[in-house]
Amino acid sequence: MEVFNKTIDDLHTLLVEKEISCTELTRGYLKHIRQSEEKVRAFLTVTEDMALAVAAKVDKKIANQESIGILEGLPTALKDNMCTEGIKTTCGSRILRNFVPPYNATVTEKLQEAGAVLLGKLNMDEFAMGSSTENSGFFPTANPWDVERVPGGSSGGSAASVAAGEVPFSLGSDTGGSIRQPAAFCGVVGLKPTYGAVSRYGLVAFASSLDQIGPITKTVRDNALVLNAIAGHDPKDTTSVPFHKPDYTQFLENDVQGLKIGIPKEFFGRGLQPEVEKVVRQAIVTLADLGAEIEECSLPHMEYAMPTYYIIAPAECSSNLARYDGVRYGYRAEAEDMIDMFKNTRAEGFGQEVKRRIMLGTYALSSGYYDAYYLKAQKVRTLIKQDFDQVFGKYDVLVSPTAPTPAYKIGEISDPLAIYMGDVYTIPVNLAGLPAISLPAGFVGGLPVGMQLIGKHFGEGILYRTAYAFEQNTGYHREVPAWIKEVG
Ligand code: GLN
Repeated sequence: MEVFNKTIDDLHTLLVEKEISCTELTRGYLKHIRQSEEKVRAFLTVTEDMALAVAAKVDKKIANQESIGILEGLPTALKDNMCTEGIKTTCGSRILRNFVPPYNATVTEKLQEAGAVLLGKLNMDEFAMGSSTENSGFFPTANPWDVERVPGGSSGGSAASVAAGEVPFSLGSDTGGSIRQPAAFCGVVGLKPTYGAVSRYGLVAFASSLDQIGPITKTVRDNALVLNAIAGHDPKDTTSVPFHKPDYTQFLENDVQGLKIGIPKEFFGRGLQPEVEKVVRQAIVTLADLGAEIEECSLPHMEYAMPTYYIIAPAECSSNLARYDGVRYGYRAEAEDMIDMFKNTRAEGFGQEVKRRIMLGTYALSSGYYDAYYLKAQKVRTLIKQDFDQVFGKYDVLVSPTAPTPAYKIGEISDPLAIYMGDVYTIPVNLAGLPAISLPAGFVGGLPVGMQLIGKHFGEGILYRTAYAFEQNTGYHREVPAWIKEVG
């Protein structure tokens, strides 16, 4: 059976109607992974034996006529910064290359409870710092649409695995765009939920006030189904919000009639590739044709989002990464004394980008500079949030490109600042703690282009509604890279 083009509903029906057993399905995906990994390299670990053991249990349930949940028996994979008990969790870093967590992240637990079958752990930029997966401490992942190009990042493995049909859904994490930008580059749907909607317990911390876990899927409906399984209050995460979790599929109406959509002019400025702008403008016309009311609006402090993020994120990471000292986790370097052991462990264990951020963050937090940089950045963060509060008094959803360009070639951009600029449209959303989704909006030269929809706090429902209407009336989600069809 061809597995690369199946939605969650398709797979659930196949299992329930006993057209395929869960073991056969799991084997089918494992085979597809083996074949397409020659090109894509999205996986750091494949958990074949464990997966087949779970599949056998699901088959038993089905054989006993027990009912199964919508994700039960369905293959999935996790970005390698989500803890999995007994399964290596490297965070894409050589410093954690042998780290096997003794516990599960809450999202791991929730997917397990839903009966999903974990096929493995996915490649990422080291500690989620990056936009191309080239900062992985192990190897780069390729974009399934053009294997000479990056899949985006930092959740590059999560997006590439779904785009290559290796799993029907995966989880990524997003601190400044790391779910949405790779989703855009790989032509799949990626949601960054509202800060506090999905538990961060067991997510290896990068910048704790910005990090969120979210689903990466082929379709908008699949995305809502996965969010149903992972969202909700978790007492183990003090920043998790006790909110009423709706059934997100109830929002999937093919209707945007009367919806007020704002187009922030700052998201269409310098640096946006004209071909990408054309695709996104055309997508906005489609939303208008479907009955949405479109109006230009302004978020005046957006130009400060990048510098603000590159103070706050490194500041938090310099503190979060202090724990990797060769004593408590992972790798330990040889040395004569303890201080040298700390130094060598960190010098050998961390990659260049991680070291750069730790230095930036340590500097921004040091006495004498704290007020000038960190405190100032926190104040600007408030102004950015207030800009959003203001426009959301008037609009239900904001629309922008997800990234200023499509996927670039592996090795093409070496200047870190040039790579940072690729996140201009996604970073403000994290600073304000808002939900946002990226969905396929068209193609430029055979490469997918993503459109970003931004919503109010806990406004995931309206994002799904808008995205669903767009998807159903365009159909870009049905496109698949040609070589995958041959792999089958
Ligand atoms: N690309 C951004 C960075 O390098 C965002 C990463 C992320 O969202 N984890 O920090």
